Amino acid sequence: MTDLDIHSACILLVDDDPGTIQVLHRALGPFSNVRFATSGALALKLAEELQPDLILLDADMPGMSGIETFWKLKSDSLLQATPVIFVTSRRETDLEVEVLELGAVDFISKPVNPALLRARVGTQLRLKLLTDELRSAAGHDGLTGIANRRQFDEWIDAECRRALRGGTPLSLLLADVDHFKAYNDCAGHLAGDDALRKVALVLQNETRRAGELTARYGGEEFAIVLPGLDGEAARQRAEEVRSLIEARAIPHPRSSVGPVVTLSIGVSTLHLAADATPVDSSAARALIQHADNALYLAKKEGRNRVRYETCSYPFGSWTRQTA
Ligand code: GH3
Ligand code: MG
Ligand code: MG
Repeated sequence: MTDLDIHSACILLVDDDPGTIQVLHRALGPFSNVRFATSGALALKLAEELQPDLILLDADMPGMSGIETFWKLKSDSLLQATPVIFVTSRRETDLEVEVLELGAVDFISKPVNPALLRARVGTQLRLKLLTDELRSAAGHDGLTGIANRRQFDEWIDAECRRALRGGTPLSLLLADVDHFKAYNDCAGHLAGDDALRKVALVLQNETRRAGELTARYGGEEFAIVLPGLDGEAARQRAEEVRSLIEARAIPHPRSSVGPVVTLSIGVSTLHLAADATPVDSSAARALIQHADNALYLAKKEGRNRVRYETCSYPFGSWTRQTA
């Protein structure tokens, strides 16, 4: 775990009274990234834009109340995990209980005690940054640092749904290191780990557009999700990836293919039928299955090559390209 830099975290202050905002801002002196909104509507707009680490929300505001603003934040998928501290001059325990039960992380009474405010804000920011780190670690592979299988599974499901909504193609590359058992047997597992890191870095640098993802699928297998790419474009990308790994020239001590580490790659493109609704996780499973079939062919036909299978959903019909 890295040191948590709570003082650079983004805090959004929401209060209809500019005087109160000034007082809170002064009290939060050591925190360098503090922003303001003077209404619920403005707060929602800014929160969407800034994705703050913590929101201090006045419970009593004209127009959209604090509670209403809070509900809107909680119903936004990108903001629902953002911690909210309510700040209010009302002292009823009922209100305190209500907002804490709704999911606010804390409740602070006005007039605020500056030291107490800093301490409570600090505690919540530490928790938020730690949660962010844990969430990020849960989606990444410990050896290579790229996305792991768990993140891949969620990603490809989401991209299948997006492909259906937008009527756009979705392609998947499954890449498997050739003769990697022999690599380990000859060079040792630690050298094998280094080779996997190098391969992962090359593949990671190959995904640049929005929605694309490189993940470690498992062992010495990697997956690349390519939204918006049809079969021909995906085949080309796969061929680029294959030749980049070859050109990276990681020495392989014992491969039938040649003196360097190589990849066999299976490619598949999801072609959705017009009535393919709703898309459930079986669409992703079908796409993976067809890419895996193509990978099997690439291995069988000599390794260090790209093979392709179309995946039609929901009918499961497909065509195999063997050239
Ligand atoms: P093929 O060309 O048919 O893919 O042959 P292969 O030897 O690569 O395939 P096989 O499935 O027989 O072996 C995969 C090897 O990958 C065996 C396993 O020890 C190795 N491997 C999987 N994960 C890791 C890892 O994290 N580190 C290291 N060093 N090796 C790994
Ligand atoms: Mg394998
Ligand atoms: Mg292999």
